[in-house]
Amino acid sequence: MTVAPLRKTGRYAAPTHAEPAELSANSHRATARILSRTAQVRAPIRPRGAGTSATDCNSSADGTTLSMTGLDRIINIDSHNMTVTAQAGVRLYALAEALSRHGLELIGNHEMMGRTLGGAIASPGLGPGIGRDAASLGRWVLSLKLVTANGRTTTVSSGQKNLMGAIRSSYGVLGAIVEATLKVRPITTFAATHRKLGIDQFCEVVDRLSNADVGFRFYLMPHRDRVYLDLRRHASDERSPHSTPWRFKDWGETTVLPRVCKSLNRILPIHSVRYRLIDSLSETTQGIVNSRFVNAGSNAMTRAGVSLASSARPLLYSTWCFPASDFSFVLGAYRKFCLESYERTGFRADVPVTGYRVAKDASALLSPSFDEPMIALSTASTQTKGWDDHVIDLADFAEHWAGVPIYSQSRALRAEYATQVYGDRLDVFRRIRRQLDPQDRLLSPFMAQYFR
Ligand SMILES: Cc1cc2nc3c(=O)[nH]c(=O)nc-3n(C[C@H](O)[C@H](O)[C@H](O)COP(=O)(O)OP(=O)(O)OC[C@H]3O[C@@H](n4cnc5c(N)ncnc54)[C@H](O)[C@@H]3O)c2cc1C
Repeated sequence: MTVAPLRKTGRYAAPTHAEPAELSANSHRATARILSRTAQVRAPIRPRGAGTSATDCNSSADGTTLSMTGLDRIINIDSHNMTVTAQAGVRLYALAEALSRHGLELIGNHEMMGRTLGGAIASPGLGPGIGRDAASLGRWVLSLKLVTANGRTTTVSSGQKNLMGAIRSSYGVLGAIVEATLKVRPITTFAATHRKLGIDQFCEVVDRLSNADVGFRFYLMPHRDRVYLDLRRHASDERSPHSTPWRFKDWGETTVLPRVCKSLNRILPIHSVRYRLIDSLSETTQGIVNSRFVNAGSNAMTRAGVSLASSARPLLYSTWCFPASDFSFVLGAYRKFCLESYERTGFRADVPVTGYRVAKDASALLSPSFDEPMIALSTASTQTKGWDDHVIDLADFAEHWAGVPIYSQSRALRAEYATQVYGDRLDVFRRIRRQLDPQDRLLSPFMAQYFR
């Protein structure tokens, strides 16, 4: 039995009096045995996938963390009906690779490919897909097997709209997902272009882009007044994309840059000098990795975030969603917030902020884009000193600008605010949760503040 590491999550202080335990399940039956009420397993029990969430949603401070990564079998790929059935611990990159051998791909342009299928269904698995494809991965689930808090297995299909809607983005409080069948599609090429813009220039186009049939992702550097925009459209011509330039881009953005930032934070004590150098390096990286060869791609070829998910200390980050309809105003205010906060505290995010559009998606009760398209804005840092205070300020900013939180990714989230945002949908979700887990066996104190 290994001891799971604890993370602080801003306003929530985890109790420290008991040793957390970690168990691993490598089969459906083992999961059912661990969750069964007769097993001598200390509650609360929290399922965990790759553990890439930013909050304590995937661990149990004084109960048991149940690792699902041993359930790593791809059970069936049906090229005729275009579906894939896999166990919950399968990593997205392994799924994408297996599908590509059959000429198929996941729907939506997903990143952080080191996460698990179960984690991407049980929390909003978002990515910069094109048009309506930019929904959560869970939307494409046709059926799944769930082991509930008493160890019983239930199979749920997309026809059971209410129950399936509650299980998608249920953060593991309704049970452990052990297997899922997803709709997939033939590999489809998209065209990609890259632009370098000032923040005001980007504000002029972002509202229009949010309503167009495109996908986009951007890197924002508030202290350089710079936006690097990666725009994706359905390809109108016959292109044959190459994976090598994308791999190089992923490696530069998600591996090399964070590592260099971390080293510079260690060796350069004067923060004005350090940040100037880090910003220059970020700009250079963008210039190099977005070469003219990164002009076409497909969902089958991204491997972004594979190494981050297996790293001992992944990036610190906090993500909030903002309504896409008036994102230009939010962005202007966010820039001011970053400059003011740096001036006041001497702390700022060292790696560029990333953002992408998320389509309207009402397939999950707790979908962050249930009512309208959103822009997910993710602030990340490689340095811990100052981070906890920064995420509290960021949460205050987000509340002020009607930010929609994600329970697994928005740090320092106040329970009252989350209740206000998710409103009636959260009431329904809580009722379903009480029916499925009347003894709160899956409810850690961290989760209880939101879902009891
Ligand atoms: C650098 C970086 C980039 C990221 N980029 C993105 C991004 O582009 N888009 C995005 O959406 N997210 C992103 N994330 C956040 C994170 O990767 C996702 O939230 C991911 O879906 C979590 O998957 P996981 O396997 O790590 O699950 P975990 O973090 O382990 O768990 C997430 C939640 O799901 C529950 N859970 C996990 N497995 C199961 C299961 N089998 N059954 C029931 N419940 C389960 C857990 O209890 C927890 O509540 C990023 C994170 C990092 C560090």
